[in-house]
Amino acid sequence: MKAEILKMLKEADDHISGQQLCEQFQVSRTAVWKVVNQLKEEGYQVEAVRNKGYRIIESPDVLTREELSVQIGDATRWAGQEIVCFTETDSTNVRARKLGENGAAHGTLVVAEQQTAGRGRRGRGWESPAGSSIYMSLLLRPEFLPNKAPMLTIVMAYSVATALREQTGLDFRIKWPNDIVLNGKKVVGILTEMSTEIEYINHVVIGVGINVNTEAFPEEICATATSIRLESGKTWRRAELIAAILRQFEVQYERFVKEEDLAYLREAYDAVLVNCNREVRILGEKDGYRAVALGIDDQGELLVRKEDGTVTSVYAGEVSVRGIYGYV
Ligand code: ATP
Repeated sequence: MKAEILKMLKEADDHISGQQLCEQFQVSRTAVWKVVNQLKEEGYQVEAVRNKGYRIIESPDVLTREELSVQIGDATRWAGQEIVCFTETDSTNVRARKLGENGAAHGTLVVAEQQTAGRGRRGRGWESPAGSSIYMSLLLRPEFLPNKAPMLTIVMAYSVATALREQTGLDFRIKWPNDIVLNGKKVVGILTEMSTEIEYINHVVIGVGINVNTEAFPEEICATATSIRLESGKTWRRAELIAAILRQFEVQYERFVKEEDLAYLREAYDAVLVNCNREVRILGEKDGYRAVALGIDDQGELLVRKEDGTVTSVYAGEVSVRGIYGYV
């Protein structure tokens, strides 16, 4: 009921009377009053005028189930239609995996205000301070074969970059395969994990960490990390950004499921690829080498032209890509 009351108050142009809310939701005046008080405690500025009712003047930047479900609304069919929120958790990917094991629906969204064990690729950590960033994971139940699943990282990176470009007007660029950079610094990290059998996928979890309103980073990463706030000088409402990402991802995912490869996305993807047509260093398990990044192929691998002129594809699981002089 709290989500419905919040939605009604947010969508109204004018005050809504307590009586109206009671009738709509078949509850007592006290119950309405309690919900309004809870909203105030969460930081909503609710104006209460005698004989007129309640009106929301200002919403806080909170990641509650109610706020997220109002923002997502019915703009998606399955992405984020089920929402699980934590004030603090170990890792949203771990929580989403557990939910997946217990039968949670395709598209279930897990969000946390803070992670105590945020993770990156290959056992690396993801810095996850409280209250300023987005830590979200989406649970998916694809019907395609397990070997297609790594392409979902590409689909998610494209969706996040596109949604953030649209919402902020800033020049977000993808650093293949799983990062997004803003002005050459890392602002988003993506981690795809899955549970599979040989022939089929049980579930996939895609985690997305976004530095939104972060004001400072620890010394180890401050040269390569940034936030949307640091680059734009403005704060951003996280729930609105999450909703925009889910809308975009649902469209891209459904297209991908139909096509089963990335031929349809290549041109659009390469246009926002940060190192496209530039020299990069490919850092492998063993020796690294220099090459020019040419864009992705139909499977989402990175095509590069080596110094001897041959073109080869680089598989995401094996390498990291760096610019010649620095991170990009
Ligand atoms: P690769 O190029 O292989 O992806 P990576 O260093 O980008 O390498 P990831 O797994 O994508 O690896 O991300 C983890 C790394 O990101 C950490 O080792 C750390 O250097 C950096 N990092 C950790 N937290 C943050 C953060 N909040 N914002 C930006 N960068 C971070």
